[in-house]
Amino acid sequence: MIEDKSSKSTSISELGEFGLIDHITKNFKIIHASTLKGVGDDAAILDFKNQQVVVTTDLLVENVHFDLSYMPLKHLGYKAAVVNISDVCAMNATATQLTVSIAISNRFPLEAIEEFYEGLKAACETYQVDLVGGDTTSSAKGMLISITAIGVLNHDEAVLRSGAKPNDLLVVTGDLGASYLGLQVLEREKQVFLVNPNSQPDLTRYDYLVERHLKPEARKDIIKLFKNLELKPTAMIDISDGLSSEILHICKQSNVGCKLYEEKIPLDQQVITTCEEFNINSTTVALSGGEDYELLFTIAQADFDKIKGNPSMTVIGYMTEPNEGVHLVTRANQQIELTAQGWNSFKH
Ligand code: ADP
Ligand code: MG
Repeated sequence: MIEDKSSKSTSISELGEFGLIDHITKNFKIIHASTLKGVGDDAAILDFKNQQVVVTTDLLVENVHFDLSYMPLKHLGYKAAVVNISDVCAMNATATQLTVSIAISNRFPLEAIEEFYEGLKAACETYQVDLVGGDTTSSAKGMLISITAIGVLNHDEAVLRSGAKPNDLLVVTGDLGASYLGLQVLEREKQVFLVNPNSQPDLTRYDYLVERHLKPEARKDIIKLFKNLELKPTAMIDISDGLSSEILHICKQSNVGCKLYEEKIPLDQQVITTCEEFNINSTTVALSGGEDYELLFTIAQADFDKIKGNPSMTVIGYMTEPNEGVHLVTRANQQIELTAQGWNSFKH
């Protein structure tokens, strides 16, 4: 995970801005017919015929959203793309193009930018998206990354946060809480390293957690599955901030309430054992951890047979009339009101 940094260090000023752009983008191949012109002109030209287009953007700031002392730049490039592609998936759309803008201080040599673009290229290949533009500039301090993702869907396919109805089932993909715990493990190792720079971290016991934090994936597979199952969720959102916060978004925008069952929340075994070791509540971690990039969606009860038995989807609750509120039903059958800051409110 902690990669050997090449000792080679080439100053970016040797290449100049245009040389740099050319150097970092030349290995990207265009795959979509909708990309008429990619990198290299004043603007990209895209043609989506009669499909609808979704656009989403994210800004990432060093030491606010990522810490380069344990986040290798290659992973950062991959993750920066994935978090945007995940937003496209959450609309029930398929990502097709990306633009990537970076601001970097003179602390970063060419090799660092190359690593970042390697991760970006891996994401473009995995998710079949074209890099079609961006901007490159310097910053007084640190690194900033802004990515815009573009995706397509057919008319009537868009799934918004606002479509959930009372009695709809609440469903989540994959499992929750691992990314947050991965970050806790990495933070702990960083502190150990600061005290003893010769220490060698052994993270094998936490491999799933660390992987989920450093190399998350967007659930493009689920969007495909919806098409195959002829299933259209009534509402959908991706889990970036935590289950609790995302449920509240759906409830507010759909004007519904919700019952979420604690015992149904899907957790990986490593999440359970690490929560015991760190002495934190696994439900709290799933509710408030965030950065899982799983999909949270609602479906009509009549569609339950389409997802029944699918190992990558778990029914965790159902929607109610709005006056019933938004509650977690605990294993002890207590009802606790969900708040976006579940972290504090569930601490005993
Ligand atoms: P302009 O002066 O019109 O902003 P630039 O010289 O910044 O043009 O960009 C030239 C081309 O390179 C454009 O197609 C732009 O989208 C692309 N580009 C610039 N920076 C990046 C980057 N970091 N990643 C990908 N493409 C980039
Ligand atoms: Mg520019």
